Amino acid sequence: MKNLEHWIGGAAISSSTENYFDDLNPIDDSVFSRVPAGTAEDVDRAVEAAHQAFLTHRDTPAAVREEWLTKAAAIMERDVAIFADILVDEIGSPIAKAGFETRFAVGFLRAAAGVPRRVRGETIPSDTPGRFSMSLRQPVGVVAGITPFNVPLIKGIKQSAMAIATGNAFVLLPSEASPMVAAQLAKLWKEAGVPDGLFNVVYGNGADIGDDLTGHPKVSAITFTGSSRVGKHIAEIAARRLKKYTLELGGKSPLIVSADADIDQAVNAALFSIFMYQGQVCMGASRIYVERPIFDKFAKAFSAATKNAKIGDLREPTTMLGPIISERQRERVRRHIDDARAKGADVLAGGEWTGNCCSATVLQGVTDDMTVFAEETFGPVTSLYPFDSLDEVIELANDTEYGLSASIFTRDIDKALRFAQRAEAGMVHINAPTLYDEPHVPFGGIKASGFGREGTEADLEIMTEWKWVTIQSADGGAGGH
Ligand code: NAD
Repeated sequence: MKNLEHWIGGAAISSSTENYFDDLNPIDDSVFSRVPAGTAEDVDRAVEAAHQAFLTHRDTPAAVREEWLTKAAAIMERDVAIFADILVDEIGSPIAKAGFETRFAVGFLRAAAGVPRRVRGETIPSDTPGRFSMSLRQPVGVVAGITPFNVPLIKGIKQSAMAIATGNAFVLLPSEASPMVAAQLAKLWKEAGVPDGLFNVVYGNGADIGDDLTGHPKVSAITFTGSSRVGKHIAEIAARRLKKYTLELGGKSPLIVSADADIDQAVNAALFSIFMYQGQVCMGASRIYVERPIFDKFAKAFSAATKNAKIGDLREPTTMLGPIISERQRERVRRHIDDARAKGADVLAGGEWTGNCCSATVLQGVTDDMTVFAEETFGPVTSLYPFDSLDEVIELANDTEYGLSASIFTRDIDKALRFAQRAEAGMVHINAPTLYDEPHVPFGGIKASGFGREGTEADLEIMTEWKWVTIQSADGGAGGH
């Protein structure tokens, strides 16, 4: 078991209090690490260190930043096994999911290495004769990043790599349930040559110190991934202080299967979309709509296929489901299933527990008075609904406060494109799972699923600030040409 310390100004720094909390391995709730319960004072120290480092290094050439990111990608590639081990033991990731996270992290760092040379402005025609007019993109200063427990490496890398690539300094408040990933990231950035203070980590309970970080006067931008509840709260704080922010929040993503779809393809995609990492994925397909003529066939095939969504040894490549992260989350998953069952839903598969793991659960006959109908379960639970027409399913799919990802399975290109245009979602996939990400795409959601987008292009919006500069000849003349 390891004791963590805050990472501030390039060094491990003891917390301002003696309070520590336990970071538990969800497979058996044994203690994985001991973590300082940071305070407002610790947050302030981290932000001040970041601010000073920003002032010192803001003019570092693009070529140097490119070198840091390139080195970071190589270190990440070398250390994938170290990161994967942490993801397995700290948050209960099956090795297949941990492998996806580590591969994504390597890919993101490589893509981000191309960003420093692309932080460009424009030359602009001026209305005044002889005046030269241009725009610059400048870093904002200190960026605060807050990560969720479920993809701490993907989000920790996305947020920090883009802050560093664009010339900012970064302070990370990692989820209470995944602090060790953040500690390993600190080592990575240090070895990659990133100057002390450009990457900092404060540990603690987000409910206690989150506002101290997001509300800190020297934090200029916030990049948050987590629940819609906390996201809305952060938006209020940011709005009051006119800070830039991106929110990547929860979902209730629909997956639609038309009667003309390849059923095997749709079954496999649906299985992956909702049961990978025991459904603790923001893009999880927790609502599956199947066109009535094939509803029974799909329901049977999908329920039977849940035997492939296996609970098992997390280091076995075919294991898809592991433990639910915490007792609070387990209680939520149980409550959603029990409530649906009590109100008359059929449990076609699953609904059983092995230790802290819930089996792949398929519900049918879910009605709008059941909690699982509208709320994000964030567990291995999905509901099957029949539909009769494309217009009807578009309405059903959009009947949610969320709008993250959506998929449709069909061979009819007209249907597919109509759905892509009408779906109230930030991301739509045709004949593919709801669950997907790449470094350079505009990733994110609408409605209660998010605000703004993240990715190597999209993040320029919150991580840089436009400045307009004009030049007039010093003798006041018309510019001499
Ligand atoms: P959460 O909202 O409970 O916690 C997320 C983070 O917010 C944690 O680090 C927590 O400490 C911190 N936090 C809590 N209160 C805060 C405050 N007042 N100020 C600042 N930070 C605060 O979410 P979680 O349970 O860790 O993650 C699951 C949620 O995240 C789900 O809703 C899921 O859909 C969402 N998620 C979204 C995406 C996406 O890209 N859209 C990706 C992963 C997870």
